[in-house]
Amino acid sequence: MSAKCLNPKCQREAQTRGLCAACYVRATEVVRERLTTWKKLEAAKKILPSHWQKTSARKWLLGHAS
Ligand SMILES: [Zn+2]
Repeated sequence: MSAKCLNPKCQREAQTRGLCAACYVRATEVVRERLTTWKKLEAAKKILPSHWQKTSARKWLLGHAS
């Protein structure tokens, strides 16, 4: 069972930083167009912080949970 995309209107599976591939592409676009920044998206909880995946993967590797 995987997490869903953080976009509530999106039903796809989260792949990168809490977003599905399609929403992540949109995020990189708006950041590249300087409409927002990764920091702002993080603060608005629209993407997961970049360290999250690392921490989560480390916990999973070291832990006993599923
Ligand atoms: Zn999505």
